[in-house]
Amino acid sequence: MPKKNMICPECGGKFQSEASMDWHGFLHTECPFCQKTSKYPLEQGQKMAYSFMLVFTFITFVVPLYHGAWKYAISALWGLFFVASKLDESYRIEKKQEEAVRKAYMNREREGEEENLVPKGQD
Ligand SMILES: [Zn+2]
Repeated sequence: MPKKNMICPECGGKFQSEASMDWHGFLHTECPFCQKTSKYPLEQGQKMAYSFMLVFTFITFVVPLYHGAWKYAISALWGLFFVASKLDESYRIEKKQEEAVRKAYMNREREGEEENLVPKGQD
C-alpha cells in the first residue's frame, strides 16, 4: 500500500503512514506524535461510492414503498441508514481533524509568544 498523508484527529499532527483499511473503507493508523490509534475519514473515491450507494439504497427503499411492499422497503431502509451513518461518521472525523489542527496551531502560536516574552538562556 502506498504511503498516505494523514492528519491525526486527536492531536492534529501531520504524518505519512501506510494505514490499514477496515471493511467499511475507513483507515486506521497510529499517530507518531500522540501514539493514539484513530479512525480516519473516507477518501474522495470511497465517499463517492458511498454517495452512490446512498442514492441506490434510497431507490430500493422508495420503489417498494410506492408499490406497497413494506418488507422490502424496511430492509432497504437499514441499508440506507447504514450508508448514511458511514458518511456521517466520515464527516464527523473530518470535523474532529479540523478542530485538532486548529488547536495544534493555536498551541504553537502560544508557545511562540511565550518564547518571545521569556527568552531562554538569558538572565
Ligand atoms: Zn496524534
